[in-house]
Amino acid sequence: MRHTRIKELLSTAQAGQEALVKGWVRTKRGSKQVNFVALNDGSCIHNFQIVIDSDKVDAELLKRITTGACIAAKGLIVASQGSGQAFEMQATEVEVLGDCDNTYPLQKKGHSWEYLRDIAHLRPRTNTFGAIFRIRHNMAMAIHTFFHERGFYYFHTPLITASDCEGAGQMFQVTTKNLYNLQKDENGSIIYDDDFFGKQASLTVSGQLEGELAATALGSIYTFGPTFRAENSNTPRHLAEFWMIEPEVAFNDIVDNMDLAEEFIKYCVTWALEKCKDDVEFLNKMIDPELIERLNFVIKHNFVRLPYTEGIKILEDAIAAGHKFEFPVFWGCDLASEHERYLVEQHFKCPVILTDYPKEIKAFYMKQNDDGKTVRAMDVLFPKIGEIIGGSEREENYDKLLKRIEELNIPMKDMWWYLDTRKFGTCPHSGFGLGFERLLLFVTGMANIRDVIPFPRTPGRAEF
Ligand code: ATP
Ligand code: MN
Repeated sequence: MRHTRIKELLSTAQAGQEALVKGWVRTKRGSKQVNFVALNDGSCIHNFQIVIDSDKVDAELLKRITTGACIAAKGLIVASQGSGQAFEMQATEVEVLGDCDNTYPLQKKGHSWEYLRDIAHLRPRTNTFGAIFRIRHNMAMAIHTFFHERGFYYFHTPLITASDCEGAGQMFQVTTKNLYNLQKDENGSIIYDDDFFGKQASLTVSGQLEGELAATALGSIYTFGPTFRAENSNTPRHLAEFWMIEPEVAFNDIVDNMDLAEEFIKYCVTWALEKCKDDVEFLNKMIDPELIERLNFVIKHNFVRLPYTEGIKILEDAIAAGHKFEFPVFWGCDLASEHERYLVEQHFKCPVILTDYPKEIKAFYMKQNDDGKTVRAMDVLFPKIGEIIGGSEREENYDKLLKRIEELNIPMKDMWWYLDTRKFGTCPHSGFGLGFERLLLFVTGMANIRDVIPFPRTPGRAEF
């Protein structure tokens, strides 16, 4: 007999049916005569109750059914007398597949997030992390479905890159050089000629530049892959290794880009509410009582769209009215998370898309506005998170782009292939990057980005 997964059993169970289930014991309680085992197999948030009469199984075997142990149980599905569930199993055969002694770190409930991060190899076995990682899977499916249904092609951009001009963040180097014996030239610079790639290489901070090559060939593409940033910022919203989704679309202008971003996020949030109902409800109950309300709010409301310059005015007015920020506000400043969250949570009480940022604080490839000061950038700002998406219309004019590259002293020899797109049949195009884990923060209600990725990489931490 093949075993049935608990999710399936719960949706198809009928009294009188025989079944075999396999999973990990969450709890065992009961009396001398009868034992109630709450079994979880990870297929869903719900446990399945296994009732074991003490006189039906060997006493030694019964002792081995402890919290954390892996068991297989066979028996009859019956209507449950208990209040927690409709059905339970009256076990006729029980086998311990894997014993678990009392050093198992998940004995009791209510561990701190920090403690659970230290046992990240086991935390998926908790209710909360089980729910989070099922939602994570579902969000990946939502993303692929969204783009696939709209005719976008999933394009794989490289993780190892030799152009350090992306400018989106500090890069991790990739080398096979012997670090104990580094050869340097007469200026003291490291010689990379004999390194694996014959030049300095790094892990990518964004797939965008290659994504643009694809968009100017396939029309509409997206990437979805790991991204690396060696920024030494220990915040609840930054990881050194995270996943990013980057659509890039030929012939889209900034407004089309905003429409796409808004439709995309709403699609993902709707998917979470519909397809991860049990897990989202669990998180709403246990983690964040306003979660579902917030998710529904985002789906129902149009995002506010506002130029950066007007955002700065609002923040300056707030300061004049007595509001205190940690970081200064002035035209030209890069907004800190506290500023973004003020606009979203206190001023508009709604997600905000901020556009037309000063060119000095944005990347070289963004389309320049006629004012000479701003670029056609757009950041989507969300409650509790701040920036969830960063994007722009791209500068498609060869001369303007080249001028900007020269102004910023970006090494040209690395950029020839990117500039070719503007030389050979250039076209208007736009795109953005969504941080997958920032989206997950939003749909799970979790507060720390370390808790929505299975094995977080942050400064000083790369265990598991
Ligand atoms: P921030 O200002 O929050 O550091 P950024 O402006 O450097 O972000 P972008 O280069 O615009 O980020 O990257 C696009 C998206 O990737 C961001 O909107 C965010 O959702 C996500 N992101 C960026 N850096 C990180 C990180 N270190 N960890 C997790 N997600 C990130
Ligand atoms: Mn950004």
